[in-house]
Amino acid sequence: MSPRIYILPESLANQIAAGEVVERPASVVKELIENSLDASASEIFVEIEKGGKALVRVTDNGCGMKKDDAFLSLERHATSKVKSAADLFALHTMGFRGEALPAIASVSRLRLTTRSVEDEAGWQIYAEGGTIRQAEAVGTVPGTVVEVRNLFFNTPGRRKFLRKEETEFGHIADVVSRLALARPDIHFRLSHNGRSYLEAYRHKRLEERAAALLGRGIARDLLAVEADSGQGEMLVGLLGAPGISRSTTGQIYTYVNGRFVRDRVVQHAILEAYRSLLEKRRYPVAVLFIDMPPDTVDVNVHPTKHEVRFRNQQQIHDFIVAALRERLQHVVIETAGLGSVTPQRPAPATAPYAPVGPDYRARIQESLLAFNDKVAATPAIAAVATVKGEMTGWSSGPGMEPALPEGWRLIGQHLNSYLLCQVHDELVLVDQHAAHERIGFERLRQQLSAGGIESQSLLFPVVLELEHREAAVFTDHLANFARFGFEVEAFGGRSFSVTAVPALLAEVDAERLVRDLAAELNEIGRSGQLDDEIERILAVLACHSMVRANQALSLSEMQRLLQDLAAIDFGSCCPHGRPVMHRLSRREVEKFFHRG
Ligand code: ADP
Ligand code: MG
Repeated sequence: MSPRIYILPESLANQIAAGEVVERPASVVKELIENSLDASASEIFVEIEKGGKALVRVTDNGCGMKKDDAFLSLERHATSKVKSAADLFALHTMGFRGEALPAIASVSRLRLTTRSVEDEAGWQIYAEGGTIRQAEAVGTVPGTVVEVRNLFFNTPGRRKFLRKEETEFGHIADVVSRLALARPDIHFRLSHNGRSYLEAYRHKRLEERAAALLGRGIARDLLAVEADSGQGEMLVGLLGAPGISRSTTGQIYTYVNGRFVRDRVVQHAILEAYRSLLEKRRYPVAVLFIDMPPDTVDVNVHPTKHEVRFRNQQQIHDFIVAALRERLQHVVIETAGLGSVTPQRPAPATAPYAPVGPDYRARIQESLLAFNDKVAATPAIAAVATVKGEMTGWSSGPGMEPALPEGWRLIGQHLNSYLLCQVHDELVLVDQHAAHERIGFERLRQQLSAGGIESQSLLFPVVLELEHREAAVFTDHLANFARFGFEVEAFGGRSFSVTAVPALLAEVDAERLVRDLAAELNEIGRSGQLDDEIERILAVLACHSMVRANQALSLSEMQRLLQDLAAIDFGSCCPHGRPVMHRLSRREVEKFFHRG
């Protein structure tokens, strides 16, 4: 017998819709803020308790709703924004599906308080799991307050998937930042457990808003960009100068017609524009708004509306690449013109963030000179200093000529990246970068298991400002840093001062090191306990090793690298899982030449 077909009960249909729209508290925040934006609010206040698991409250001073509309808004497919299919292709609002409120209501205890500007009094409706339990007229100011308590209280299966309070709040902070970046004209406030977390007053310019949200430090390194394709597309935004980079794409904010999107085409275009300006696996900071006629882009691809479909994909892509290249090129040329020395690596980005006056460089120079004098006066230090000068990095040995491990003979360097060696009767190729990372990784691991990673104070502390979510996770982990050889103090807000780093890494760009560490901790924050992830952290630290591919090494540098490699008890993989060396046996070589 074939199964009978039933129409789903309304409540179940809503819960299914909630599965798509409401993934976690941050999705609730997003939907509620978008509704406030559509209601033309100029103030949007978001209060969160327990990462949004206990409470999400969004208060706005928008147009509010009349009694009938307030009830209707909790019904599925009730929307004031779209009346016909044609409207779908000319959207000027954030919402249009008319399913967010009922979906959220179906998986929470929701209280809606609203008053239309034209009315004397407002209405308050209380619903549990989507069922209206109470409704009454109330005295209230014009605007709307939506309170969502105990999210997923009636769907324990989904509640289980919620993460730690801090992690959920991090997602919320992300969502608020994204929306607030796009609307500098709106006053946003975000608090968590009664403590104010973010306050962005009305700003006139995107630059000011970016400074408030991304940090004053970075704002100084953002370049304004503006372009018109002449074919309907416009682009405005801020681009991070090529000197600053991140280990993830987390600080690339892209918007299409005012809506935050994470789009493959747009992302690819941005990375393409920065290609050759950033090292491999480094990503820019960017805030970009791309506008185009609404009928040339479909935003109704996914319920969360993070994906879009362009009618003319290639044209958009090429327009973005051209506009960004053009802007970035100017900077590169300007900087090259100014610089007295051409740096071999991209200049470290520490300087702009350090708490410095104009005499910063002078101070560094002075202390370097003083250090050099000391070195010259002490032969023992002089030796070490020369070694370090030759190859900054892991090696801590004294400056004597290092002998190669027993049975090893160095043949040479191939492509400035691989060492060729004869080891007894084998031909061995060593990837110098992978080897160096492995050595660093092992040394850090040894030190850690011997009680803690050896630390070294910085000549000048590095002050940095992190992104909201990173700052939250970072603060959580502050106590752990000493173990990893860092001394970090919270400076208030999202600022931190780094006064010491692992001694083995004393010569690398400290700011970048700490930022990468923060990004990694942020990732880990989502997935588990720090103790289970120590190897991941060590790998991040080791990755800052200074011997890269494409770097000519002197004979003694190569010898020492092999010596260091032999001294550790290593597997044949670098911490990222790439192989460190490859052996060709005598047999393989002979076979290749049809011998033996
Ligand atoms: P959508 O935003 O897709 O229309 P929602 O379920 O999010 O669907 O909201 C349903 C309707 O409720 C909206 O179309 C709007 O008319 C009304 N509404 C929701 N939130 C607000 C608010 N904060 N202020 C005024 N009206 C609101
Ligand atoms: Mg909506």
